[in-house]
Amino acid sequence: MQTSPYDILFEPLKIGPKTIRNRFYQVPHCNGMGHRWPQSMAEMRRIKAEGGWGAVCTEECEIHPSSDLSGGTLMRLWDDSDIPTHALMVEKVQAHGALAGLQLVHNGSAVSNLFTRIPPLAPSARAARYYDPVQARSMDKADIRALRQWHKDAVKRAMTAGYDIVYVYAGHNLSLLMHFLSPRYNQRTDEYGGPMKNRVRLLREILQDTKELAEGKCAVAFRFAVDELLGPEGLRCEEEGREVVELLADLPDLWDVNVSDWANDSLPSRFGPEGHQEPYIKFVKQVTRKPVVGVGRFTSPDTMVSQIKRGVLDLIGAARPSIADPFLPNKIRDGRSDEIRECIGCNICITGDMQAVPLRCTQNPTMGEEWRKGWHPERIDPAGSKDNVLIVGSGPAGLEAALALSNRGYEVVLAGQRDILGGRVVREARLPGLASWRRVVDYREYLLQQKANVQIYKNSPLKARDILDFGFNHVVLATGSSWRKDGVGREIPYPLPLGQMDVLGPDDLMDEKFLEQKKFTGPVVIFDDDHYYMASVLAERLVQQKAEVIFVTPDSKVAAWTENTLEQKRIQRRLLELGVRLICNRTVTAADRGTLTLACTYSGQEDVLEAAHFLPVTSRLPHDNLYHELHQQADRFADHGIKSVTRIGDCYAPASIAAAVYHGHLYARQLDHPGDLWTDFRRENRWS
Ligand code: ADP
Ligand code: SF4
Repeated sequence: MQTSPYDILFEPLKIGPKTIRNRFYQVPHCNGMGHRWPQSMAEMRRIKAEGGWGAVCTEECEIHPSSDLSGGTLMRLWDDSDIPTHALMVEKVQAHGALAGLQLVHNGSAVSNLFTRIPPLAPSARAARYYDPVQARSMDKADIRALRQWHKDAVKRAMTAGYDIVYVYAGHNLSLLMHFLSPRYNQRTDEYGGPMKNRVRLLREILQDTKELAEGKCAVAFRFAVDELLGPEGLRCEEEGREVVELLADLPDLWDVNVSDWANDSLPSRFGPEGHQEPYIKFVKQVTRKPVVGVGRFTSPDTMVSQIKRGVLDLIGAARPSIADPFLPNKIRDGRSDEIRECIGCNICITGDMQAVPLRCTQNPTMGEEWRKGWHPERIDPAGSKDNVLIVGSGPAGLEAALALSNRGYEVVLAGQRDILGGRVVREARLPGLASWRRVVDYREYLLQQKANVQIYKNSPLKARDILDFGFNHVVLATGSSWRKDGVGREIPYPLPLGQMDVLGPDDLMDEKFLEQKKFTGPVVIFDDDHYYMASVLAERLVQQKAEVIFVTPDSKVAAWTENTLEQKRIQRRLLELGVRLICNRTVTAADRGTLTLACTYSGQEDVLEAAHFLPVTSRLPHDNLYHELHQQADRFADHGIKSVTRIGDCYAPASIAAAVYHGHLYARQLDHPGDLWTDFRRENRWS
């Protein structure tokens, strides 16, 4: 039999009484669907199992109404009525030969219990995590007994639902059991407080309870954050983090280890590489004889093999790589590693959970749409006609439309005006920290090059006249957008009076030649009314050019929306470390040579700021001229054999790269489809 360097990734492994078929382990991850959209959640998990993951786990699952994550949408096992939702997922996952895992949680003071209105629980009384006017009460012995019973009840229900793996969870600073471990939360003076051997007591009891109930029928995993990256303030992998692993070494059947909090665990690529957790978690395998799973945005099979061979991990854990490519294991198995849709580390997937809507993914436009739209990441309906399609513009929208249309079997011509494909993605990927984003282009360009039904034309700026003459049946305009330079955005409704100010736009700064030649004669003032990543990466880029940078935002923090991608704190810290001056709660009302007038967003009080250059990062204008020019000649379409002219991506409505990829994909599915794929989707209405 032929061997492959990746065979080791396909060796089965015993986890307690269960055997996982390979080393690909989808660790628990939230998805914004949970108990509210159970069919959607279950189908998304099923597809991971179909794609070859050896284990597929749920997100957090609340064990009791006193752990109520309302505001977010996760899983619940409050009582028996929740079991069918779980059974649905378990059945789908196991049907493909994968193990189904459940991450039980009591969130303690990490939740405010907004739905159930129960005062939250904590080892010692304290304010709850969010700014809700809620405090958690200190648990007495009766509460501790009750908690153990709730956990046992949840384990029994999990086993009724058929799970192969149940979790005990002390991670991400989101779990009451982790709070018991932490002196920041646990200031008790009884046998559950004080030295670590006391603080670990409840955790040990719950692990033992769970093991007893599981009775060799179900594996017990323990998810534990070995380091909080807080220095002496928190758990550290060489100190108490290690002590916990030593104290519990062989009690769980599986150690699922990571770093806390979530922003450290799901580190965006802008702030760290693949495998970034290794220095923290590598000790665990030396302490326990039980299998160890860990994560690190693994997408390279060579890195995965190395993790196992070097004895860092037994199982390759993945959340984001399994979202970007649910078929990653099968692609490696089948010698198609070069077809892996690699996660770019943008954390758009996390915004689903943060905003309580089904998750989405920049790389995988089918993510979250598996049930409601019936989209599959690897399969698509064959072409509904022999029509051909011209796509103008090779940014994320155009590339994805080309790929999905060619997968359907349409003849596709993709024309871009530059000498490289990729549009905004290649420009943005050159900015500090965003190099991994190029994968959006690389994955698609690689596959498109191999398609017999796709022709790619670079250096081809097309005009309306050309497009009419070509006479393709369908014309898709994916011509993108440009950043405005007049300040108009959320705060500023009309173009700013800019006088003699030297105004730069984000597009200028993404032009390397422009930057090389540009002389900065004084402070560059960035006005960020976009609130996502762009203004902050441009600030970093300007610092690289030795410019003095002042960052003005109408919000009370920089890049406020990046709270949703878990980046906000790191962005603000980085700008401060780079010496960027931050001015919050101010908008711009006017500019002239050398000065900007700012106004307080609360009082309106104005002050003047010295500024040699002004860089508004506010909003974008679609490149839709070509679209309108063509539509002015719509009466001639039929003569040229043109059946449709459609805008997609930023040319239709500027938004995220994820939105452009999604629109490109949606267009491809829409062609020759009778309904409207924006609005035609199944809903999970209880009463319908
Ligand atoms: P999106 O995010 O919607 O995909 P991008 O701005 O990334 O948009 O990509 C738009 C692409 O379209 C760019 O590569 C741009 O150079 C190209 N483009 C714009 N106008 C034309 C045109 N008239 N002919 C060919 N390509 C064009
Ligand atoms: Fe990776 Fe971004 Fe997709 Fe999340 S949204 S899985 S970080 S590519």
